[in-house]
Formats: sequence, C-alpha cells, structure tokens
Amino acid sequence: MSEMLNVENIFAEKVFTNAKMKERLPKKVYQEVMNIMEHGGELSMATADAVAMAMKDWAVENGATHYSHWFQPLTGITAEKHDSFITHPDTQGKMLMEFSGKELIKGESDASSFPSGGLRATFEARGYTAWDITSPAFLKDSACGTILCIPTAFCSYTGEALDKKTPLLRSMEAISEQALRIVRLFGNTEAKKVTPSVGAEQEYFLVDKDLYMQRKDLMFAGRTLFGALPPKGQEMEDHYFGVIKERVGAYMKDLNEELWKLGVTAKTQHNEAAPAQHELAPIYETANIAVDHNQLVMEAMKRVAYKHDFRCLLHEKPYAGVNGSGKHDNWSITTDNGVNLLDPGDTPNRNIQFLLILACIMKAVDTHADLLRQSASDVGNDLRLGANEAPPAIISIFLGEQLEDVVTQLIETGDATKIKKGKRLHTGVSTLPDFVKDATDRNRTSPFAFTGNKFEFRMVGSADSVASPNTTLNAIVAEAFCEAADRLEQAEDLDMAIHDLIKEYMTEHQRIIFNGDGYSDEWVAEAERRGLPNLHTMIDAASTLTTDKAVALFEKFGIFTRVELESREEIIYETYAKTINIEALTMIDMASKDIIPAVASYTGELANTVIAVKEAGAMGFAQMELLNEVDTLLAEARNALTVLEKETATAAAIKDAKEQAFYYKDVVKEAMDALRTPVDKLEMLVDSTIWPMPTYGELMFEV
Ligand code: ADP
Ligand code: MG
Repeated sequence: MSEMLNVENIFAEKVFTNAKMKERLPKKVYQEVMNIMEHGGELSMATADAVAMAMKDWAVENGATHYSHWFQPLTGITAEKHDSFITHPDTQGKMLMEFSGKELIKGESDASSFPSGGLRATFEARGYTAWDITSPAFLKDSACGTILCIPTAFCSYTGEALDKKTPLLRSMEAISEQALRIVRLFGNTEAKKVTPSVGAEQEYFLVDKDLYMQRKDLMFAGRTLFGALPPKGQEMEDHYFGVIKERVGAYMKDLNEELWKLGVTAKTQHNEAAPAQHELAPIYETANIAVDHNQLVMEAMKRVAYKHDFRCLLHEKPYAGVNGSGKHDNWSITTDNGVNLLDPGDTPNRNIQFLLILACIMKAVDTHADLLRQSASDVGNDLRLGANEAPPAIISIFLGEQLEDVVTQLIETGDATKIKKGKRLHTGVSTLPDFVKDATDRNRTSPFAFTGNKFEFRMVGSADSVASPNTTLNAIVAEAFCEAADRLEQAEDLDMAIHDLIKEYMTEHQRIIFNGDGYSDEWVAEAERRGLPNLHTMIDAASTLTTDKAVALFEKFGIFTRVELESREEIIYETYAKTINIEALTMIDMASKDIIPAVASYTGELANTVIAVKEAGAMGFAQMELLNEVDTLLAEARNALTVLEKETATAAAIKDAKEQAFYYKDVVKEAMDALRTPVDKLEMLVDSTIWPMPTYGELMFEV
C-alpha cells in the first residue's frame, strides 16, 4: 500500500507563503510587506534585508543552496540563473550563507542572449530583474539541488520591458484604476482595487519515451512533421472523459502532488478528445500569479513525464488531423470587497452595473478584435486556429440565449423588461434531478464565451504563456472603462447617461456577438460581411501591435511604449522564421537520411520479388503495380525534398525579418506540405517493418 497523502499538509510546502513570512518576520516588517503587496510602492532597504534573510533561512532549512531570479523573457518560457548563498570565508575559513535585500529585489542579467527585437541594438545589453512582490517565492527541486526561485520582471537598463510579466503588471494596474471609476459611479466607495482573476485550463499529450526518441520531429519540433492517420482516431469519442489508463493515472497523481507542493491549485483532470490527450485545470487566482503558476504547470508536466518514461507534448498540434491542444483562459474582474464585476446576478436586466460593464467589454473586444487575436498567437497555434476542431481565427463573443435576448431588447427598446427564465432541462432519468438549464448554455465553438460570471478566451495555444492574452484583455477593457467613465463622471443625469451609453455601445458593437456555430464556413462568410478581422496566422496578426490604434491604447495606460511594441512585432517575425526553419531542416534530415533510403531499399526488395514471381511463371501484376506506385511517390518525394532544400536556403538568407517570416510562411511551408504528402502516402504502402519510425497509431495508442 502506498503511503497516505495528506494534501492539506503538503499544499504550498515549497512556497514562501504569507503565513511563513508572518511567522518569521517582526510584525512591523510583515505589515509593510503586506501593505506594499496590496497597494504597491517600494520596500525600504531595511525591510528588504529582513525579508531576504527570512526567506533565505527558510530556503536553507529546506535544503536550498542557490537562489534564482525567475523570469519570463519573450521566448514564452521561463529563465533562471542560479547563484549560491555562498559568501567569502572569514580568516578562519568559516563561511556563512547569505542573501541580502538588494539581491532579493534586484538582479542583473545579460539581456543580450534573449529576444529583444532590436531593443538591444539601441540600448545597453544589460538587463535587470526586479522582484514581483505579489507572486510568492518558491523552491524548485532538480538535479541541480534545491533552488529558491524569486518571480521577477525583466527590463533593459533604460526600463524597456524585455519580458511578459512587466506589461501584465502594468495592465493590471490600468484595469484596476479604470474599473474603480466605474464602480464608484454606482456608489461603491469601499473598493480600493479591482483585480483580474485567471484560471488557465491546460491541455497536453503524453507519448511513450522510447517511441518519442525514435521521432526526430517530436524531438526537434515538438510535433510530428510526417505521419499518416491511424485506422482509429477520435471518431468513436471514447477518449473524452474516458477512464484514465493506469500509467497515465500514475503520472497525473505525481503531477498533482508536485503542483500542490508548489502551491498550484491543480483541481480537475480528465482525458481530452484525442487519444493520449489530457487536461489539467487549476482553481483561478490573481492574473499574474496564475500566469506564473501556468508556467510551473507546463514545467512540471514535462519534468514528471520524464519520471514515468513519458514525454509531454505541449505543442498545439502534435498530430495533423487529430484534435489539437489549447489553453482556455478564464478571466473575470473582482473588487477587493468581493464583488465579481462579471456576475450578472439573478436578473440581468436589473443589474445595470453588469450591463454597463458588458457593454464596455463588447466595445473593447470589437474595437480591438485584432489585438486580442494577436495575443493568442504562436507558431503552433497557426495549425489549430481555423482548423475544424478549434475556434476560428475570428474573434466574436458568445453571450448565451438569455443574455443575448437582454442585449437585443436594450438595443431595440432601450430597456430590458422581460427575462427568459432558466428553462428546465429534463434529464429523462428518474434517478437524476432535473437541472435548471444554465443561463449561459455551452457553445464550445466560440473563441470568447461568457460562462456565467467570467469570460472564457479559448483561442490561446497550449504551449503559450497566458501573459499576453491577459495583458491585452486588461488593456482593452481598461480603455473602454476609461472612455465610459470620462463621459459618465460629467453627466448631469447619471441614470439617463448610463442608460444611453449602454444602448449606444451595444448598438455600435453588436456585430461582435455571435451565438451560432463558430466552426462553420457560413460564419467565416458572415464575419467578413460584418467587417470582423480574420487574421489567419501569427505573422498576419503581428502588425496589429503597431497600428496607431494599438500604440494609442498601450501608451495611454503605460503598458507598452511604441518602441516596445515595435520590438515585440520584430520578435514575432524572428521567432516564426526560426521555428519554421527548424521544422524544415528536420523534415529534410528525416526525409533524406531515414525515409528515402528506407523506401529506396523497399523498392529494391519489391523489384526482386517481381523478378522472382515472373521467373516462377506468374504475371506478378500486383507486385508490379505496387512497385510502380511506390517508385512514383518516391520520385515525387525526392523532387519535393530538393525544392524544400532550395527554398529553406533562400529563406535563411533573407535579411529583413518580416520579409523572411512571410517567405517561410508562403513558400517554405508550402514546400514542407509538398514533401509530406507523398511521404504519408508511402507510409501506407511500405512494409511496416521497414518504415523508419513509429506511426501515429503507435504514438497515440501505446501510452
Ligand atoms: P468549465 O470550463 O468546464 O466550465 P469551470 O467553469 O469549472 O469549468 O472552470 C474552468 C476554469 O475557470 C477553472 O480554472 C476555474 O477555476 C476557472 N474559473 C471559475 N470561475 C472563475 C472566475 N470567476 N474567474 C476566472 N476564472 C474562473
Ligand atoms: Mg472551460
């Protein structure tokens, strides 16, 4: 019998929680820290020293030897550099472990090896990390030992953000300030802060380690670049919520335990639609902590997979033709006196504050649909958005029947007097109670769905950080709140002004509401008629960052400067080009070293068979036909390989980042597809003992 796990005892065991801080710090010092955590400001050096000492003592007691400023550069993952607590020994040769307040709050790091999109050319290469006091420090165990990780923001010498956390923190301040203006209009004088909360549902695939090691594409690109569909896929719908396999269950158990120790509230786990695809959802929390924790979830998923002889694939589309992985970003905003501003209450038409906020969100999402789409883009997600199991690349809002009805009434009459009652949903099973149908019935095809008291942004990719989507959401909603407050604060008749503004915003932006099937072709055509943007790829969306509209938005709230936005656009092109280049080179390697030689020797075998069969006096029609078919496809693959080699070399030589990225998209990706097609056909013809790598069927079902 395995040892009993006491979850309450282990939860946050590796986190320097407020409770631990309180225990170890003088009361006054602790209060200063809490105060800054709540309301911002700078720690005094004396306080920083005291916190650093307490943190170090706790870390060392728990086996830590090093500390690290843990940050999130624009690579989308996290970075860390370890420094030990070791200090210079005294004359007696005795050494004391130390950690100062200065080391806690600020670190210096060479920024020149991280993506900076030109910022590094114009500014010094030095980069600084600064402690995000609102996100707790934690201990990370690895073969390096135990490291005290301090969540930090990463900036250049002159203060330009070089990471994903800095703008997120700035956007959280912006939405707090503007949302407070809205709640003040409704007489809320108590609230001092409004905080966005995020719950990020994480999808992932598991694959057996030994099979993974035989696939260069999985190793280098994180996804398969070749592969024919298996006879069985997800069509039986037997995987979603199905019984979890023993080996996967053991993995999930370990994963949960690791996450709980790190203070991550892993809550829900289940099988997803595709074979070997799974999901983990935590309980929502403050946006920046949720972003940090999602990084920890992704890291832990990969690390724990090693222990179980799995590899974890976070790529958005590991297998073509099979359900991809996303990350549903659940978002709401709550006042510090406990009011969720997205909670409509029992009768939405009475809750004017909710309707005003909803009107502002409609305006924000419609005005900046392009930016929102951009915020959910990464290279892998291009293979998912617009493909038939994922939300399209078009942004729209789903409100549900009841709320849409209220909006329609408001637009038509300026008033919402009726409310569609929650209908009874009869289960037809006597042992189950009849449910009251959720006022916001499910629409799984909407990229931005209202789900009762939050919005669920479903476009985000599984491998991506959720920092950008939430930065953008906070920013665009802050802008709409600000414009509404500017008007309403001046109004003589506030009730009337609110009424008019709701009607005006909802009327002007009703095109963004869509309750139908977002996966249908009709919607793509309809969205075009409505003038909604449909940005197909990550690089098509990149320039939305530097439009006048975007610069005005982000500069107004101090979230990004124009220069920062330009650098981020540049990095998108660079990242895209690098990623496709790796994929193309991997395909070239696999095709020329493994696939083509295997098929060539197979044609030799077939030819011998044909000769032998004929010598034996038979006609050998079938063998001959197979030989011809394989030979033709082999020639096709050879030609396609030559084209891909040439185009990849051409692309790699292009100097301008944007031009280069588009060449990879328009030319190199085409050449990749042209190589894949004959190879996947060959996989279906060639003797399976000769095929040089595991098939989709093996990768997905041998888990
Ligand atoms: P589902 O998406 O299947 O309906 P839930 O609604 O239970 O599942 O929650 C999905 C995710 O949304 C979870 O991570 C949950 O913590 C988060 N969530 C729930 N309520 C909120 C909220 N008010 N704000 C932000 N996230 C939330
Ligand atoms: Mg969900």
